[in-house]
Formats: sequence, structure tokens, C-alpha cells
Amino acid sequence: MLYPETFDVIVVGGGHAGTEAALAAARMGSKTLLLTHNIETLGQMSCNPSIGGIGKGHLVKEVDALGGAMGIATDEGGIQFRILNSSKGPAVRATRAQADRILYKAAIRRRLENQPNLWLFQQAVDDLVVEGDRVVGAVTQVGITFRSRTVVLTAGTFLDGKIHVGLNNYAAGRAGDPPAVSLSARLKELKLPQARLKTGTPPRIDGRSIDFSKCTEQPGDGMPGGVGNEVPVFSFMGNADMHPHQVPCWITHTNERTHEIIRSGFDRSPMFTGKIEGVGPRYCPSVEDKINRFADKDSHQIFLEPEGLTTNEYYPNGISTSLPFDIQYALVRSMPGLENAHILRPGYAIEYDYFDPRSLKSSFETRQINGLFFAGQINGTTGYEEAAAQGLFAGINAALQCRGEAAWLPRRDEAYLGVLVDDLITKGVTEPYRMFTSRAEFRLQLREDNADMRLTETGRKLGLVDDARWDAFSRKRDAVSRETERLKSIWVSPKNLPAAESERVLGKAIEHEYNLADLLRRPDVSYESLMSLDGGRFVSSDVSRETSEGRVVIEQVEIAAKYSGYIDRQKDEVERAAHYENLRLPAELDYLQVSALSIEARQKLHKHRPETLGQASRISGITPAAISLLLIHLKRGK
Ligand code: FAD
Repeated sequence: MLYPETFDVIVVGGGHAGTEAALAAARMGSKTLLLTHNIETLGQMSCNPSIGGIGKGHLVKEVDALGGAMGIATDEGGIQFRILNSSKGPAVRATRAQADRILYKAAIRRRLENQPNLWLFQQAVDDLVVEGDRVVGAVTQVGITFRSRTVVLTAGTFLDGKIHVGLNNYAAGRAGDPPAVSLSARLKELKLPQARLKTGTPPRIDGRSIDFSKCTEQPGDGMPGGVGNEVPVFSFMGNADMHPHQVPCWITHTNERTHEIIRSGFDRSPMFTGKIEGVGPRYCPSVEDKINRFADKDSHQIFLEPEGLTTNEYYPNGISTSLPFDIQYALVRSMPGLENAHILRPGYAIEYDYFDPRSLKSSFETRQINGLFFAGQINGTTGYEEAAAQGLFAGINAALQCRGEAAWLPRRDEAYLGVLVDDLITKGVTEPYRMFTSRAEFRLQLREDNADMRLTETGRKLGLVDDARWDAFSRKRDAVSRETERLKSIWVSPKNLPAAESERVLGKAIEHEYNLADLLRRPDVSYESLMSLDGGRFVSSDVSRETSEGRVVIEQVEIAAKYSGYIDRQKDEVERAAHYENLRLPAELDYLQVSALSIEARQKLHKHRPETLGQASRISGITPAAISLLLIHLKRGK
């Protein structure tokens, strides 16, 4: 049956990529259809019930700054929040939250169901409709054809998914969900370059069978015994009142016996016996991989994380495994507090198809099939946050294509999203890709705290940001700039500031005139200390530490002042690099004929066909020398 209506954008898959893609396209005014296996699993967390962390939290803030759902849904579903690296510089500070899976899913679903221009439909997609070199729709399992101008595919771990527990395996998209086999076969038929990856998850434990008295409690920030007295917030539109009840996590450890048990299962491990071919995430290894690789370590920390407020289920973070169930049972019970643990769900590994992201354009549209975009785990990444950011990006670009406008391509110095997209399309992946702050060369300016300052204005122009967010953002931006100007306009000198006061706050008496903004740049001078100068006569009537808005403004003023020197230097670097970064390479350039380049460089450039010189410079094996030779070749050609 041909569905009577035509859509601008069809999004296939209701995971973290698909939901952000569908919401973004619909916010931008595209008539959008989200087709997914099961409406009950919209926004489902396949693995750990947590959002954020270093690099990942930065992505969530960026998605949020562009009007996305992940940050605010985490505020509504988060049962423990922490700021990681809180004692380090603001560039690497990151928010992490433990989420109640049910509340999180409900928050996502509520947004999807109430989003104008967005329709939901529950059905597996088995086929894509391709006419010439263009996708024009999707066909579901029961033969309904939906037509559209673009399709965003976000099938996660489902394409030809295969679950392994010991030497047993079966087809599935993740535990409890069907695989996407027909769609996988169709994509292979379309000759999109593809390979296999794997990921894994630990067994889940019934909290009633855990002896918490043998574990160490780990409270969240703002909880009794935790850091500070404020519970952190994810969304720029969020506040701590949105959070449900906060609960602690717990810590236990593996020991020598655990490791012996794990080793005794190696001969039945699908990883070590070659049953699993896909490569797994190096930074999130299975426990058998850890014991194998770090044989000299006699203990590993295991976090027992609550899965929600209305369930007894616990997620033991650190023992992801595909060992046989008898080994899982024994290894869990070998740890303190888990001697009588009841496993609710076995751990497993899953292998799935992913598509080489180097065959995507910088908009995430596939090079082979116009109008077809890929986002999320299907591009070789791992993690909810990486998926959400890509989904939002692909949703934006599908909507822009429908409007007949050029793609939106954030730069590496503008957003982690720019780093993520650029890394994927230029370097590809050899293992599941996750975000780290170390991947960003301009990380001083790509902070969590300024994600809105970097992106909300762009989001507004694209049509992603609603009036409420725009008003709140504009108020904050204006207040920061007013307060910065005010500090610049207040001058203190030996004449108008008693020496004792400047010694108290600045460490020594000032010798000539300074404005407060200059003084704030000094490492040991805080905004608070300046406001305490001389009986508090410089206190603002506008900005107050007593309100959360005021605290946010003060934080921005302070960080901008402290970092201004470094950021200015980084900006110069960015400007110098930008000239070459954005230099477009002619689409018809035949790299194989550029004789100045080595054969290897010619072949790599020929294979990847970078769109800009910047992209070319990041292809692995393309040296700075090769880039200069290419530049000379281009200049000669003019
Ligand atoms: P998914 O969340 O997988 O969503 C895919 C969606 O597409 C689902 O709604 C599905 O029903 C739908 N779908 C698929 N095919 C079709 C079709 N043909 N028709 C209709 N709908 C379809 N990440 C980490 O960061 N760390 C980890 O340790 C980790 N471990 C994991 C362990 C396991 C077992 C699994 C399954 C995942 C794990 N992940 C982990 C990955 C994390 O779950 C994903 O990165 C994230 O969910 C990817 O989001 P996505 O939107 O791309 O795909």
C-alpha cells in the first residue's frame, strides 16, 4: 500500500540518533515521519542508564544549545548528577547523570508526541525506495510504502544484529528486540561500504540481593556526603527542581578469585574463540578483555548503578561480558556485597553492521544515494550522546536539503559536533568511536559552560530554537556582556582604594590604575573577592550570587576573563588555520595524476575524496608535507 501523504523527512529508528533527528527536522518545519520498530522503546537506553561524562557531556550540552531533547530529558529523569573533573579547568569539566530509564524514555516520548510537524509510526522498515541515484521513501514489514524527499537512517546496533552469550548466539537488535535483517541485506545490495563492530553489556542484578553494607556509597553532587550543596543541571533550560529524587551509587571490586573464574571461561568466550569477528570499544572493554590485557592488575572497581526509582534493578558498571552464563553467575557472586546476587538479565555482546563514515559527505548524506543520511551507531560510533549529536546534525541537514538550502557544517573550533563529524568522515573508524576532550584541538573554547554561547544563535537562525529558549539565552548573553562592560568601567588606583584592601584581595598593594576586568584575569583573584573590596562598594545591583541565573552569569564573566589570553591566542591559530581549512578541493581533481605526491598519498586522497584541504590534512597517512605539495599543485593549476 502507498501511504497517501508524502513527507519531507523520514527518520528510521527511534533511538538516540533517530529521536533527535526527527525532533530537529520537525522543529525546522519539515514534515517528518519517525518510523521505528516499537513506540514503547523510543529513547531506550540499550546499555548503561547514564548520560554524559567527559567529552560526552559536552555533546549533550551542544545538542541542548540547539534545542535538542537529551539534556532536558536527563534533567527530568536524572537520579544522580556529578560534575567530573570539578577541580580541573572548565574546558575538561563535564556533567554526568545517572538516569531512571523509565522517566528518561517518558520525557523523550512526551517531546516526540507533542512536536508539531512530527508523526510517529510503529513498523520495521525492510526496504528503501531508490529511484535512480535518489532515495524517495521506505517500505515497512507489512508492505506500506511511505514516500519522502529524504531519509535519515539511524538503525543503531540492529542491522543484522547477532547476540552472543558464551558459544550460544542468536539474531537480535539488542536483548528483547528483533534485528533488522532485510534492511541490512538491502543496504548491502546497494553496495554501501560496510563492516562489523561489536559492543557488550553486563548482567543486571536484583538490588534486593545486594548487601550494600559491604559496598562503598558514592553520593551524587549536592547529596548528603557528596560534593557541594547544589545538584548539577544538564540543560540550559533546566533547573534542579525538575530532578526527581536523588539516590547514591555503590562501589565494589573484582578480586583474584573473580579473575580466576573469568579466565576459566576463556575457552568458551565468543571473543577468544573467534565466534565474534567485529571489533569492540577499546575504551569500554569487556571484563574478560580487561583481565586478559591487564593481567597484572589484581582488582578492578565496579560501580553498582541504580536503573531507576521504581525498580530494584542495578547495572554493575565494569563487568560487561559475553562469557557463558555459568561464568557470569560465579564471577558476580565472587565480589563483596554480591555473594547472594540474583542476576535479572544475562550480559551479552552484540555484533552488528556499520557503514564506513568516510563514504558520507560532510552533511552525513551518503555519497552514493542522494537524500539518504546516516546517523548514530550505524556510522561506527558508540554512545547515546554521540548518537544524539549525529542525529540532530543529520536531521538539520535533511531539513535544509528539503528547503533547498546548503548544509550546516559546524567547524572543529566551533563545536564538538564539528570534531565528531569531521573525525568520522575523514578518518573513519577501526573500532567504535567515542568522544573525548582530547580529540578537540580547540578545547579551551569548546567548553560545556559556553555551548549555548557557541551555538544557540545558529540554532535560532536554523529554526531549531523556540522563543522560550531564545529569550532565556538572550537575557543571559546580555547580562554577561553588561557585567563584563561594568567591570571594565570600574577603575581602582592607589588613590581610591586603601592599600590594606588591595593587599587583602590582590596579595599586594596596586601600584597604578586597573579596571576590575583586568584584575579578574589574575589567577588568584575571584569575582567574589573583587565584590568584597572596600566594603562591597563594587557589588552589582543587577547580578547576584543568590540566584541561579546570577551564578551562571558570574561564572561566564569569570571564565571569559581568566581564559581570555589563552582563548585569544587560540583564536589567532584558528584564523590562520581557517584559510587553508576551508579551501575547497575541486571535485574533479584526479589525485592519481598529482605526480608530486607519493603513491600512498595519491591513493588515499583518491579513495577519500576530501571536500576541503582541512579534511585532507586529517586523513591518516596524509602528512603536512603532502598537504603543502597539494597546495602547490592547486596554485599551479590556477
Ligand atoms: P539505537 O539506540 O540502537 O536505536 C536504534 C533504533 O532504531 C531502535 O529504536 C530500533 O528499534 C530502530 N530500528 C532499527 N532498525 C530498524 C528498522 N529496520 N525499522 C524500524 N526501526 C528500526 N554505548 C556506550 O557508550 N557504552 C557502552 O558500554 C555501550 N554498550 C552497549 C551494549 C549493548 C548490548 C548495546 C546494544 C549498546 C551499547 N552501547 C553502548 C551503545 C549505545 O546503546 C548506542 O551507542 C546508542 O544507543 C546508539 O544510538 P542509535 O540511535 O544510533 O541506535
